Amino acid sequence: MMVKTHLALTTALALAFQENIIPSPTLADISIFAVGAYLGTVLPDIDEPNSYIGKRSLMLSDVISTLLRHRGLTHFLIVPGLIWLLGQYFSDFEGINLALNAVAFGWLSHIIGDILVGNGIRGLLFPIYSERITLYPMNTVVVGGIFEFALQILLSFAIVIQILQKML
Ligand SMILES: [Zn+2]
Repeated sequence: MMVKTHLALTTALALAFQENIIPSPTLADISIFAVGAYLGTVLPDIDEPNSYIGKRSLMLSDVISTLLRHRGLTHFLIVPGLIWLLGQYFSDFEGINLALNAVAFGWLSHIIGDILVGNGIRGLLFPIYSERITLYPMNTVVVGGIFEFALQILLSFAIVIQILQKML
């Protein structure tokens, strides 16, 4: 999935689950959550030097990509799980707790996006199951293809409708 679709998916999901995440957020809560969630959304692709974050990572991405294959470790579900757990450790510090929960949320959204568009993720359920998990046969739903374009339109509508609902 392309970065703009990832960001749209995170936005749509955050709006959809806002009541569960923070029932009556302050402006500070929204700001912390947005920064954390968008960071969590772009960070998993640091394993790919040509990705949005990879190009801005000052060579860090080049180092990581030599150690890990793309859509590998950074795309395992256990990563947002551990970030969320770390957030629970800081449960007494509301700001840190919210920021880490937001990163985990964005990270999870990225993984969902890459399952929806692309060839799935090998090792998604590591360490329980190490094989590829995919929704479709290989190369049927390609990154940047017609399905992703349709998804972008759908997500745009979902975002606009949800914002309008919250304003009314
Ligand atoms: Zn990815």
